[in-house]
Amino acid sequence: MAMERTLSIIKPDAVHANLIGKIQAQIEEVGLSIVAMKMTRLSRQQAGDFYAVHKGKPFYESLIDFMTSGPVVVQVLEGDDAIKTYRKVMGATMFGQAEPGTIRANFATSDAHNAAHGSDSEENALIEINFFFPEKQIYHRSESIAE
Ligand code: ATP
Ligand code: MG
Repeated sequence: MAMERTLSIIKPDAVHANLIGKIQAQIEEVGLSIVAMKMTRLSRQQAGDFYAVHKGKPFYESLIDFMTSGPVVVQVLEGDDAIKTYRKVMGATMFGQAEPGTIRANFATSDAHNAAHGSDSEENALIEINFFFPEKQIYHRSESIAE
């Protein structure tokens, strides 16, 4: 399968609930590697740009309020079929519909407060990764001397 990268965000609800480590453990357990990561607090401008596709939807303003309500952990994940693999372990968007054992089944508390974000296509993964990380901040595992 193709080696891919995807962008993941651990959202403010999960950071506040001390779930960073548990979510990252689930990510690593499905074989994905975290190859870039930072904790940051999004500005309204950044959150608005990031979720621009949802502009005009009824939940847009509250989504921006939520995503700027506290720090997030933004990370690049890499591995076989990373976009689908991560969306699968993240679980369905709507509360109550995420498959048992997924990150959202374990940790979401509503449709809005759903613990994690994941890119939904190759095209968006590239846009979202570039939004947060210059290439030089991403770990190239193939160049590691630690093996
Ligand atoms: P994300 O983009 O955060 O990974 P997603 O791709 O599963 O989530 P989207 O349809 O892109 O879902 O919605 C973006 C986010 O907006 C959701 O994760 C959720 O936090 C919020 N959201 C989406 N639909 C609703 C809704 N009906 N009510 C409240 N919040 C919603
Ligand atoms: Mg989405």
